[in-house]
This record gives sequence, C-alpha cells and structure tokens, in this order.
Amino acid sequence: MLIMKITRRDFIKRTLIWGGSVIFSPSPVYALVQKEQQWYPAYAKLEKKGQLAERVEKVYSIFEECRLCPRECGANRLDGEKGFCKAPLKVMVYVAQPHFGEEISLVGQHGSGTIFFSNCNLRCVFCQNWPIAIKGEGRAIEDEGLAQLMMFLQEIGCHNINLVTPTHVMPNILQATRLALKKGLRIPLVYNTSGYERVEIIKMLDGIVDIYLPDIKFMDGDMAAKFSSDSWDYPEMAKAAVFEMNRQVGIHQVDKHGIARRGLMIRHLVMPNRVAGTKKFAEWVAENLPRHTYVNIMSQYHVDYKAFEYPDIARGITVQEFLEAMEWAETYGLTGLDQRSVRIRDLYKKSRTHLKNASNAQ
Ligand code: SF4
Repeated sequence: MLIMKITRRDFIKRTLIWGGSVIFSPSPVYALVQKEQQWYPAYAKLEKKGQLAERVEKVYSIFEECRLCPRECGANRLDGEKGFCKAPLKVMVYVAQPHFGEEISLVGQHGSGTIFFSNCNLRCVFCQNWPIAIKGEGRAIEDEGLAQLMMFLQEIGCHNINLVTPTHVMPNILQATRLALKKGLRIPLVYNTSGYERVEIIKMLDGIVDIYLPDIKFMDGDMAAKFSSDSWDYPEMAKAAVFEMNRQVGIHQVDKHGIARRGLMIRHLVMPNRVAGTKKFAEWVAENLPRHTYVNIMSQYHVDYKAFEYPDIARGITVQEFLEAMEWAETYGLTGLDQRSVRIRDLYKKSRTHLKNASNAQ
C-alpha cells in the first residue's frame, strides 16, 4: 500500500483555521469552487449560440396581439390595450428581495432572489397575494430596470432569480435577462408559475429557463372555473405545460451545496374538501412523469381574498386532509416528495400515535 508522506509544511498549507475551528485540507473546497465556476445558466449558452436576441424579438412581437396565456385576449399591449390580466406593456414589480420561505434547494443560505410581478392571468378567489396579483400594486419599470434588479439579487448572494407570476410579462423578462447577462448575470432563472400556460409559449422558453416551479392547482375543470375565474381549461393547460417543462429540464438537480441548478419542481396545494383533486394529481404525475419528479404537496392553504364567500374553501385544511394527500402520493409511488412535507407528515403521524397511546393508558 502506498502511503503518502505529509510533511509539517504540507500539513500547515492544507489546514485552514477559520472562525476558531480547524478545517482540514482546503483542496476539495477549491476544487468545488472551480467546478462551480464552470456552470453556466441555460440563457448564457443560448446567447453563446447567437439565438437569445432572436428569441427576445420573437416573444416581444406577441404583445401586438397578446396570446401569452390561455386567455388569448388578443389585446394590443404595444398600443396600450390591456387584457384579462390587466397588465400594461411595462413590467410592474411589487418587490425584489431574497426570500427564505421557498423550497430548501432554492433558498440555500442566502435566499431565493424573488421578483414579485404585479397582476396575474389566473385570478383565483383564494389568492394569497391578492394586493399584488389582483389589485396590481407595484411600480412600473423599464426592462433595463428589471435587469438591474436581477443583478442586485445576484450581488447580494441570492442563488437564483425567482420570477413569481411571470406569464404575462415573459417578453420583458427575457429582454431583461439578456441585458443582465451582459452585466454578468450567471444564476439560474426560476419560472414560478400558476401553471396556467400555453404549451406553445413554454416551448419558447426552451434553452432559457433552468428551473420550472409550476403549480398544478386543480385536476377538475369545474373547480378551476369556480375558483379561478372561469378557467375551465386549467387542468389540460397545466398538464400539457408541465409535461413540456419536464421535457426541457428534467429531474431536479442540485450542486454539491444542495442548491438547485436545474429541473422541474411541481407544487400542489392541498385544499379543503378535496377541491384540488390531489388523488388524480398524484395519479397523473405517476403515469406521465418520472416517479422521482420533485413534488411539493403543500399544507399551507388559508382563507384569503374572497375565499370566505365559498363554503367549500372557507376554512383551512385538516390534518386528515393533508395526511390523505401524502398517502395518495405514496400509493402512486411518488418518491421525489419535498422533504419538509414528508417531515410535516411524519410529525403529524407521530403526534396522533402519542395521543392514541395516552388515551389507551387511561
Ligand atoms: S397575458 Fe394577459 S393580455 Fe395576454 S392573453 Fe393572457 S390575460 Fe390576455
């Protein structure tokens, strides 16, 4: 066996004293940094191929007769017309800041660089961001200003640019991304969408977006229509869009620090009285996507905006509703479940067992 002799000098060279603790061997850290520096976001590669500018031009032309989403209003936004989403031509931003409440691989240590866009093409009666998404609170900014916000988020250490409700401003986002790329942007874009998308439009993002974070809110058109402004076609549109997203970016991938770099991450909010169709959702994922697709079954539904006017959804979910949702995911063999949801499920189960044991002991 070959034993390498480490001299005292080597030892000191390879030992770091940092914050009072001793970290042996800086070389693996250095290697990791080197490797990280070789990573490029999808949009940078497309620019290198000389195709990003052409794509920006193509998507901007959609504003002339807006069909960016399944509403297909046909509004001439270049001429100041507004469609169902009420979005003007200039992008409206409510806030751009690090966010620590997203999935762990997006948040890391320094936060997900979220940009909340005003207005929305879905307009749900239970919207939890209604002052921004429905009332349209925010400031109008030029695409150049949006590029500066992206750079700010990167400079303060955010791990990604998390575009919240991007559908109706997708052309502005692409233009801003290209401007920011020229200033040195090199973190991934997260396309954080309600899922109400046209697959033709998602195809235009191929080679630009690294991480898709879509909701699948409903599996039943009647429910979508009732709670999300007559969007009867929501389930079909969302499923087709997510299928395409998976084709483009595939399974959720993280770097050695556990930070998301690429892939599909689906969110599904459990709603009271099985309104979201969680069983069908789990079945659809199992039959149409890899079983280890990242799926976040979320428990945080609360009554907001106009939800109190609709008896079916005028309450939070019960523990039993969350547990049955997680059980369906397991029954259909989904293995890429968000770790926090799994932890919540386990804690609920544990506390139920404790309660049972305590009552039996009496
Ligand atoms: S993005 Fe807005 S204007 Fe364009 S089709 Fe959708 S709802 Fe209509």
